[in-house]
Amino acid sequence: MKDAYARTIDYLRISLTDRCNLRCVYCMPEEGVPPLCHEEILRMEEFAQIVGVAAKMGIKHVRLTGGEPLVRKGICNLVRSIKATPGIESVAITTNATLLACMAPDLKEAGVDRVNISLDTLDAEQFHAITRRGNLADALEGIEAAFEVGFDPIKINVVAVRRLNQDFASFARLTMERPLHIRFIEYMPVGHSVEEGGCGWGPEDVIPTKELIQTISAAAKEAGLGELLPAGADRPLGWGPANYYELEGAQGTIGFISSVSNHFCASCNRLRLTADGRIRPCLFGDEEFDIKTALRTEGPDAAQRVLEQALSHKPESHHHRVGTARMMSQVGG
Ligand code: SAM
Ligand code: SF4
Repeated sequence: MKDAYARTIDYLRISLTDRCNLRCVYCMPEEGVPPLCHEEILRMEEFAQIVGVAAKMGIKHVRLTGGEPLVRKGICNLVRSIKATPGIESVAITTNATLLACMAPDLKEAGVDRVNISLDTLDAEQFHAITRRGNLADALEGIEAAFEVGFDPIKINVVAVRRLNQDFASFARLTMERPLHIRFIEYMPVGHSVEEGGCGWGPEDVIPTKELIQTISAAAKEAGLGELLPAGADRPLGWGPANYYELEGAQGTIGFISSVSNHFCASCNRLRLTADGRIRPCLFGDEEFDIKTALRTEGPDAAQRVLEQALSHKPESHHHRVGTARMMSQVGG
């Protein structure tokens, strides 16, 4: 399907739940998100029904995110039904990986094609401080489990934040040791992070990609890891909006996603579905379309009309706006 600006939209990002077992300081309040009542959240069958409608319209790729998608019961059955939907070519998940060690075999068996893991530091203390409660060892075990069951490629998303002084060289080193694809993502001062009671990290904490490439390049050299070079054409780069590099002799790659400094709206291929059943045409726009009510009261044809309406409202760009009234955990990051 095409939107009003002739972009092909074939990717649906679904937030399965706005709950999470962690409380990353830039994403969620310490006490968690206010609980939504049972009726407000889409049931797993409803997610599958919406995917069915979306697939008929041309959605080919689905990503399950959240909140933490692995805390939502029934995820494997949902993956199975999405995979069995005619037209769907791939199902991916984005996870903090802390529950992946025990769930990776079932997710693989259910048909998950790829996993993206969010991990902002390789330092146990810093990990605990960022997530307010997580253990780095759990996330690392999750990554090992992802390797063991054969997910490929495995991408690690690192949100780069100036005041965290993350040890970027440790991630660069990891690409030498394992076939991991590390992607540095610009911190977005939106949602909970800039709300009252949030972490209060502002625009000054965004490290623009250009600067980040120089910093990581210098850190890699200093650590004796060699030059950061543009990645070879044989690398699994995916359709995401990242620029990829690699160190000579590395097993993995190092990518950069400039969500703040360089908008990639012109090549945007996605719609989002929130856990409470709203279609969101743009991460940064707060316009949403109520597909839950349409599906529940009138059925799949009405759901299709809501998708079409959302598609026709997909903005050309977010016009340098970096704001969202909802938390990242609610809109799926
Ligand atoms: N819980 C899962 C996870 O952490 O991978 C999936 C949901 S999480 C909201 C998705 C992604 O959004 C994570 O990679 C997280 O780091 C990112 N994210 C959340 N708040 C962000 C912010 N303010 N700026 C940049 N990325 C953010
Ligand atoms: Fe949870 Fe992911 Fe948000 Fe962290 S970024 S609190 S892991 S939803």
